[in-house]
Amino acid sequence: MRIYLDHNATTPLRPEVMETMERVLRESFGNPSSVPFEGTRARALVEQARDQVAGLLSAEPAHIRFTSGATEANNTLLFGLLAPGDHVVTTCVEHPSVSAPLEVLASRGVRVDWIAPDESGCIAVADVEAAIRPETKLVCVIWANNETGAVQPIAELAALCRARGPWLHADATQAIGKLDVDLTKTRVDSIASSAHKLGGPKGVGALVLRDQATIRPFLLGGGQERGHRGGTENVIGIAGYGAACRAAAATGAAQGETMRRLRDRLWRGIQTGISGVRWNGDPVRTLANTLNVGFAGVAGEVLLQALDLEGISVSAGAACHSGSIEPSKVLLAMGKTPEEARGSLRFSLGQGVDEAQIDRTIELLAKLVPRIRELGEP
Ligand code: PMP
Repeated sequence: MRIYLDHNATTPLRPEVMETMERVLRESFGNPSSVPFEGTRARALVEQARDQVAGLLSAEPAHIRFTSGATEANNTLLFGLLAPGDHVVTTCVEHPSVSAPLEVLASRGVRVDWIAPDESGCIAVADVEAAIRPETKLVCVIWANNETGAVQPIAELAALCRARGPWLHADATQAIGKLDVDLTKTRVDSIASSAHKLGGPKGVGALVLRDQATIRPFLLGGGQERGHRGGTENVIGIAGYGAACRAAAATGAAQGETMRRLRDRLWRGIQTGISGVRWNGDPVRTLANTLNVGFAGVAGEVLLQALDLEGISVSAGAACHSGSIEPSKVLLAMGKTPEEARGSLRFSLGQGVDEAQIDRTIELLAKLVPRIRELGEP
């Protein structure tokens, strides 16, 4: 049986999500915008899911806009909010679904300040504060990083932005279901999310925003999502997302403690059994399920493939855009050298991982890393 330690890339469907989606697939083919019975039933499913997503986040259901995932949510927010002349403060450790749109917007006259993290991968609130100017429209910060698991000080940034004025957008894709993302406690203006990171299906997510009116619609069409996102709703996916959020709300904190225990066991095993290893990040300010390790003198891609052949799935750099052998920009921004970044692997745990799997992973790493080192410098 394979050992799947790549849950930040995607997670398997939760059984209750599968059940919900199968039922919707079989029983409800209606168009939620149609009035007759079938449409009304589909509409009810979409609205139930909206309540379930809102429930997990302590958000208003009316603030949830369903999208095709976090990529669309981030693009919608950035292109819908910003205009030439606006100023944005963001970080050097954003997901490409934020950094790529911001680079395009920068070429169109939006001014962007990129804040570097320290070696933990976290940014300092004081650096953001110093960068805010009267014309700053947006502060845009990833809540938890997909590659390192570094958790940013979002509550402090929310307080800062409320005091100073700019809109705060947090890409919460990796935070939801792993951290307590409660929008009544942490007053961000908008967040992006993707269902498949918490046991839901791929291709569905949400942009959650308090102030609906300020954002220009990104997709124009039939007026769905209260006129903000044209296109017939992905009813099956949305129902699956709702079911995933309901399940996550029920299991959240307990799951986190199990992940931390297993992740720390993995790190202890790696540290004890292998020389020249280093945790990329700060254990205290990292998601409980994530461990990013630098193996000195090893090419990450080679170790990844060797583990894959042995039945273990992990990730080198960011899975979403892997296939490239470019060193991770996130690790470089944390001050790692290109060699250190290339020699790093991400282990991300989730439902189904147990102690035996962790011990097997440690055992294989202790065997493979010295062999790869013997083959020569990366
Ligand atoms: N933001 C973060 C932090 C992510 O981890 C991901 C997925 N890797 C995304 C955005 C994009 O999500 P999706 O591909 O589902 O649109």
